[in-house]
Amino acid sequence: MKSDVEIAQCTTLKPIEEVAEKMGVGRSNLELYGDYKAKINEDQNERFDEEKNGKLILMTGISPTPAGEGKTTTSIGLADALQKIGKNAAVAIREPSVGPVFGMKGGAAGGGYSQVVPMEDINLHFTGDFHAIGAANNLLAAMIDNHIYHGNPLNIDTRKIKWKRVLDMNDRQLRHIVDGLHGKGNGTPREDGFEITVASEIMAIFCLSNDIKDLKEKLKNIVIGYTTEDAPVTAGQLKAHGAMAALLKDAIKPNLVQTLEHTPAFVHGGPFANIAHGCNSIQATKTALKYADYVVTEAGFGADLGMEKFINIKCRLSGLRPSTTVVVATVRALKLHGGISKTELEKENIQALEKGLPNLLQHLEIMQETFGVSTVVAINKFPTDSEAELEKVAEQCREQGVKVVLSEVWANGGSGGEELAQEVVRLADQGSQTTFTYDLKDSIIGKLEKMVQKVYGGKGIELTRNAEKEIQKLEALGYGDLPVCMAKTPFSFSDDPTKIGRPRDFTITIRDVKLSAGAGFIVMLTGNIMTMPGLPTSPSAESIDVDDDGKIVGLY
Ligand code: ADP
Ligand code: MG
Repeated sequence: MKSDVEIAQCTTLKPIEEVAEKMGVGRSNLELYGDYKAKINEDQNERFDEEKNGKLILMTGISPTPAGEGKTTTSIGLADALQKIGKNAAVAIREPSVGPVFGMKGGAAGGGYSQVVPMEDINLHFTGDFHAIGAANNLLAAMIDNHIYHGNPLNIDTRKIKWKRVLDMNDRQLRHIVDGLHGKGNGTPREDGFEITVASEIMAIFCLSNDIKDLKEKLKNIVIGYTTEDAPVTAGQLKAHGAMAALLKDAIKPNLVQTLEHTPAFVHGGPFANIAHGCNSIQATKTALKYADYVVTEAGFGADLGMEKFINIKCRLSGLRPSTTVVVATVRALKLHGGISKTELEKENIQALEKGLPNLLQHLEIMQETFGVSTVVAINKFPTDSEAELEKVAEQCREQGVKVVLSEVWANGGSGGEELAQEVVRLADQGSQTTFTYDLKDSIIGKLEKMVQKVYGGKGIELTRNAEKEIQKLEALGYGDLPVCMAKTPFSFSDDPTKIGRPRDFTITIRDVKLSAGAGFIVMLTGNIMTMPGLPTSPSAESIDVDDDGKIVGLY
């Protein structure tokens, strides 16, 4: 069997102008980055118009398991399938971060016969967006320490600086550092640390900005820390936002590439899905909708996390609304939710499947009852799935009024997803009325309670003393009307990753609270969230190479 990179390298790509032309994007709106990548240069005055634009199809999944579900692969394959049945379709997904490419195997550009290409470029530097984001982040960090060095007129308390430096690399050595050492001329010694670029608030801002003006306003509002009197200090007070926006002026334009079947693919921005909202940029989604009639986009993790943030944060801030949704599941993963181990997945096991199915059913309930959107289940098919198992999934979803369609896009590309495409078009054309889970005017605690009861299916919340104090402080400072961004394990509806399937009667504990005033949300931390990953025992960097002709090998 061919590896993903081998499949990708066997494909003859079309010049990106041709791919763009198919959607009606002319050469004057393209900024070329070589032959197969471009940025789309939109006229900023030509506003996005909901009435005239295409329909948005939101892809999400069941609570993820180590067996993998295939949301990105299915998103790409569905866009190809939509093209196959004669629709003008595109896909909009996140850009991969370079750091993890050298860590664990498993790409972010799809897999098998549903990939975006050139996958080597997309996985390695691409159009340089993440470097620009890192530079903007680190400019602000440098300006903070420079301000302190030159007398600290804003009275920044060096123990209360929240802004970290970033790097797009998995490097645990840099998580906690002391810098500014070696005497008066070399800065002020303080505890500091690095995060991976995708965890930076700049990444979230980048993805939530509607245009450059909006970007600048959001950068200005970043709270970098507090003064000795506990007053917030902003990037605007440090006069950093203009220069930061200047560094991002090209990065903010959406990237266009193609799928293996030459369907236009927007790959732009890639925030974390825990401490941030986890989906590609608003600019990419809006540009895709302006030109394509159907746009498939992915919200990371399940309906309780990625999808919830897509609706309560991204949709609220942008005016975007999904016309319909797809929940990706695999029989293997559902069996894992039924409590069996990874080594037993190959064998038919209806009992384990029945025990795991409530996880899928709760995701469907969240779609239909909490968010008010229509949905279809895509079973990402594996050769080990038995007929009886597939029928069991279909039967249970049918009872909930949801159709189940098999997807074989990983093995067959777009032709493996035509039935899914037909159902998606039927649902999208009917339209949906999206409901938000809470009102921005609700108190922070009120928002959290609604979230736990309406989305997670739990009883309520508990707060540590620290979290309680932070929430009171943020409300007093006037940040109480921001949406909440839940940093919760994706593996369970609860905050305990071992409670798989459909847990009941649980409470969610908020341990800490982090203000992202620039991005425009308050992060609620329910556990320790890793913002600077490390490399594993045998990092994939050991097998990645480039041959004498410049061809990349060993990348997935
Ligand atoms: P997600 O977006 O849900 O994290 P991806 O689409 O990135 O998942 O897929 C995860 C991995 O699983 C990828 O390496 C992909 O190639 C692989 N994969 C997806 N679907 C299948 C399938 N049907 N058979 C075999 N491998 C698959
Ligand atoms: Mg994915």
